Amino acid sequence: RAKAEGGGRYALYSVSMAARVAERVRIQDRLETAIRTNTLELHYQPQIDVVTGAIVGVEALLRWTDEELGDMPPDRFLSIAEETGLIIPLGNWVLDSACRQAAIWFRAGFPIRVAVNISARQFRQPDLSEQVQRRIREAGLPPHLIELEITESEAMTDPQQTKALLTELSGLGVAVALDDFGTGHSSLAYIRDFPISRLKIDRSFVQPITQRKTDAALVKAILVLAHIMSLEVVAEGVETQSQLEFLRAHGCNYYQGWLFSKAVSAGEISAMLQRSQQLLAV
Ligand code: C2E
Ligand code: MG
Ligand code: MG
Ligand code: MG
Repeated sequence: RAKAEGGGRYALYSVSMAARVAERVRIQDRLETAIRTNTLELHYQPQIDVVTGAIVGVEALLRWTDEELGDMPPDRFLSIAEETGLIIPLGNWVLDSACRQAAIWFRAGFPIRVAVNISARQFRQPDLSEQVQRRIREAGLPPHLIELEITESEAMTDPQQTKALLTELSGLGVAVALDDFGTGHSSLAYIRDFPISRLKIDRSFVQPITQRKTDAALVKAILVLAHIMSLEVVAEGVETQSQLEFLRAHGCNYYQGWLFSKAVSAGEISAMLQRSQQLLAV
């Protein structure tokens, strides 16, 4: 009986495994098509100056609605893109689109910074900084208007190489932010040694700041540390006014989150920028 049950469980397990594999293959297949037919989109989430309330930048975020699979959040397809190597053409497309869009805003009189997420595999591409440099040049963009977001785990894999690459990138004038700060294996040595311009505090720390003393203390400590190291701080996932008040009281520089806006189309960002300009003109 036990044997029969065990066998049954085994069968069930392998069926669900097979289903998972089949789903991944299907996503991979649809993703290839989406890249080829250019049906992925970039949306942009505003980054706001905590003190002035101005939109100083945006983060480019991938959006994909597949005709067969429906809405596919980045967290579901990026690991597949990473494993299969599709992330390379996809990442290049993101970089390309973000640079072009940044140039459009720049030429329209809105010199906002556009932040681009760089995946682990992309980060290990030996020609990453040439790729970035070429696109910035082709777009006719001041380099400081592009920011690359890397995570601690990406930076960690090979600290020596990371330092060399980041030095190259900052030599180009490109900004670098450490994304999801606090969730990986943070090392204070990296903050000291890597030429980065900003820390992005992960929303898992930001969201509980008004409820839990320990999280409030952590965020305060990160802000103090960052400022000692002359780094700016972006708080992610700000959803409430009281979270924003806390961040303002403790000297956080920028925030992004649903309190201000979700990621929206480039056209909607342009409209927001125009509205804020009209407000200033009045
Ligand atoms: P991330 O870089 O940490 O991006 C922030 C995520 O938080 C985004 O999720 C954003 O929509 C979400 N978010 C922003 N404000 C709020 C808020 O107030 N509340 C809540 N609950 N969430 C908020 P999204 O767009 O689903 O992206 C997830 C992750 O996928 C990103 O995390 C990033 O690591 C990755 N990703 C997205 N686009 C790209 C891309 O073009 N290239 C690469 N390599 N990774 C990307
Ligand atoms: Mg990011
Ligand atoms: Mg993040
Ligand atoms: Mg993330």
